[in-house]
Amino acid sequence: MATTQGIQVNAKIRRRCVSLIVIFLMLPAMPGRAETSQPVTLGTGGVTGVYLPVGREICELYRQATGFECEAIPTGGSLYNANGVRNGDLDFGIVQSDIQYAALHGRDAFYDSGPDPELRAVFSLHAEAFTVVAKSPGIQQFDDMIGKRVNVGNPGSGHRATLDALLDMRGETEDIFALAGELKPEDMTRVMCNDRLDAFFYVVGHPSQAIEDATRRCGAHLVNVTGPDVDALLERDPYYSVTVIPGGTYANTPFDTTTFGVRATLMTRADVDEQTVYDLVKAVFERFDTFRRAHPSLSTLSPQHMIESGLTAPLHAGARRYYEEVGLLPPSGQGR
Ligand code: GLU
Repeated sequence: MATTQGIQVNAKIRRRCVSLIVIFLMLPAMPGRAETSQPVTLGTGGVTGVYLPVGREICELYRQATGFECEAIPTGGSLYNANGVRNGDLDFGIVQSDIQYAALHGRDAFYDSGPDPELRAVFSLHAEAFTVVAKSPGIQQFDDMIGKRVNVGNPGSGHRATLDALLDMRGETEDIFALAGELKPEDMTRVMCNDRLDAFFYVVGHPSQAIEDATRRCGAHLVNVTGPDVDALLERDPYYSVTVIPGGTYANTPFDTTTFGVRATLMTRADVDEQTVYDLVKAVFERFDTFRRAHPSLSTLSPQHMIESGLTAPLHAGARRYYEEVGLLPPSGQGR
């Protein structure tokens, strides 16, 4: 009897060992987030912009909620981030809504590389205005910049791409400027204040530290960007809208500034782990008040707005799962 029991116990132990070995052998075939010790990467923007503090807050909330690492990387901006997400160098990227559209459909800056149906939207963020900041008092409208020294933006920036879209609509190129500077946002204010630039372009959420510095330190002012070419852009592309920067937001600009704008959005790729995207979205939405305090330009965000405006790519499955779970979207199959 004792011998039979011993044999049964040994057989049980053998079976358990075999199961463990089988599970162990199967592990490499089951891709998962815990197995890849790589941190989640999120492309942001320059050090004086809004993308960097917003990206850092998203990462911080994700880290606190999951214990997994997340790196908010300073970059050249939207175009750089969209390329990084497209080619797999970044898991997430903050991208202007016009760049999201272009990256998905292979338009404008993505004309040569073509459409990318694998891009996915996560949520949208703050509104960004196409902002012209001029030091020369003679610059009061877009046309006054023809023949002037302006900063068009660093390669990889969203503002450079949006400016090029506007110039294209006007049938012009950057050649209309006497100088088309490519400085990063963190350098353009200083160079303009040193009288080596007349104006700069920046597509950014307000209030912006770089613009506050330019208006306070060297008397710069904001310029309206309106007219038939802007109207044509607004009519052609649904992701642009009329934007007003309230008077008094900055020194030397007591009146409202009317221009056009986009929304900042968070993008990823279809093959980024579903649970990671779900956890990241959940981390942000469950601590929404904390998230909104990351920067003043997030103060008017609402969860519903974040999944409705500025998104042209399909939602990532992990994001959609969370929105359906909390009732922000109807269950799949019932439409939006
Ligand atoms: N909109 C800018 C870009 O896409 C970045 C603005 C920011 O860093 O807040 O390059």
